[in-house]
Amino acid sequence: MSEVKCPKCGSNQISANKKGFSAGKAVAGAVLAGPVGLAAGAIGKNKVDITCLACGNTWNPVQLAKDQELRQMGVEREWRKSFIAAFEAKDLEKAHAIYEKKYGEPREGWSLEIEYAAQKKTEDRLEAFTNGVYVCFGLIVLAIIFYLIYY
Ligand SMILES: [Zn+2]
Repeated sequence: MSEVKCPKCGSNQISANKKGFSAGKAVAGAVLAGPVGLAAGAIGKNKVDITCLACGNTWNPVQLAKDQELRQMGVEREWRKSFIAAFEAKDLEKAHAIYEKKYGEPREGWSLEIEYAAQKKTEDRLEAFTNGVYVCFGLIVLAIIFYLIYY
């Protein structure tokens, strides 16, 4: 039950401040929101705030989980980009160090080239996805402009 802690002071003396919404549900929501992440929108979206009884800090468990996930994704991507950049600059020692800093000693059979290929593939896929989103968005904007001009 006390899985949810105040992100500010770490106290688990918390209360959910929405009528008809039990702390138990809020806890379940926050726990689910962790791994499931963006699907958390399904859980009474942004409607419940939790207040810390120890320090008075108020936060939204769903939003907090989303923020943490986004931050984690950003950190991940930054790591990947610096690894790729080091490898492509032929600074293999640096690429190796970047890898080890994250994953520790590489296992048997590991090679920088294979790791690079895998990371590059992931990055390319992310890039393609991002570009796809921009293209879709651009097309929608264009369609709206055409509509506004011709109708
Ligand atoms: Zn607190």
